[in-house]
Amino acid sequence: MLQAQATANLFGLNSEELKQLAMEYGEPRYRGRQIFHDLYARRQQNLENLTNLSKSFRQQLALRFAVIYPRVREKLPSRDGSSRYLLELSDGQVVEAVHMPEKSRVTLCISSQAGCAVDCRFCFTALMGLQRNLTASEILGQVYAIAQDQRMDSHTRLNIVLMGMGEPLLNFAPVMKAIRVLADPDGMRIPWRRITLSTSGIIPRIHDLAHEPVRPKLAISLNASTDEQRAALMPVNRKYPLAELLAACRAYPLRPRELLTFEYVLLDGVNDSGDDALRVAKLLHGLRAKVNLIPYNSGSGLPFRTPPFPRILEFQEILSRKHVPAFIRISRGQDIRAACGQLIVERTEAMAPEDQSH
Ligand code: SAH
Ligand code: SF4
Repeated sequence: MLQAQATANLFGLNSEELKQLAMEYGEPRYRGRQIFHDLYARRQQNLENLTNLSKSFRQQLALRFAVIYPRVREKLPSRDGSSRYLLELSDGQVVEAVHMPEKSRVTLCISSQAGCAVDCRFCFTALMGLQRNLTASEILGQVYAIAQDQRMDSHTRLNIVLMGMGEPLLNFAPVMKAIRVLADPDGMRIPWRRITLSTSGIIPRIHDLAHEPVRPKLAISLNASTDEQRAALMPVNRKYPLAELLAACRAYPLRPRELLTFEYVLLDGVNDSGDDALRVAKLLHGLRAKVNLIPYNSGSGLPFRTPPFPRILEFQEILSRKHVPAFIRISRGQDIRAACGQLIVERTEAMAPEDQSH
């Protein structure tokens, strides 16, 4: 009965906000920290279960608040064990997130925006344009919605990658707020080494990230070996060209044993030549970095193809010979639209006939 009147979402508030809230109700500040632990470590969704709090405080909270995660609208399991989720937000927007179980851990790929404004030519999310930024609650809530759906126990070792829909550095404050809760020893307790933020290269925000007290690992979507090529694939390169981007990377303070990751989507006949590989090696010379080579995920609506596998191997070979560690990353869930945004875009724009067999 009490829950019926609740409107505001308690989920997504940080420790300081919860302490303030406790004080508004005439409770001591530390009650806020207890609520934080209940919400983020114990993953309680029912305010009745916050039994550290007095019954009357719980009842008062329930009059105003509920604990709301994004709703699982659809879950698409892949043959390879991963699952793609379509998660619905309170205003009906839908974002994608992916659950990828491995031997000793689980990787979750989550979104930072509904759609994206950066407009990379090879990206399905770009076709949606930017719908809106996600709130910290919605970014964090993707992790909790999937943890709940997968009945994940509290010992599961989680990796979080912000590589879903959107450009995380163009939604900086909410993304950082969500990351701080994920990393909090009293919350999800995920160490920074297991959280990766991927960016198309928003240079001023890379500088800001360098000064954050809680900082994830950083991945940069390079995707090209010259300014001309990169600007054609990623219009953001006109504003933030390669030399400045790599200077920002060189200035970026790495922690012991930390490497920068450069992602490189391989597009057949576009950026996958031997010369491209040599130029990438040169660009990254002297950086503490590794390269993840991502064969392009093809789909309807975009004019690119995946390179033949021998060319991908050759690209890797050349980088390795130049002492740049390079790994081939085949996206999980090939049968369920492996590229983020792809599922939503293809659903919306009516599928091409050859796609309907999957
Ligand atoms: N906006 C951020 C994070 C989301 S995109 C960024 O661009 O880094 C995550 C990764 O997916 C990026 O490295 C991007 O280059 C890659 N990507 C986008 N479209 C792809 C596609 N069709 N096939 C393979 N990788 C793709
Ligand atoms: Fe946005 Fe990243 Fe897609 Fe580029 S690759 S359009 S930055 S989501």
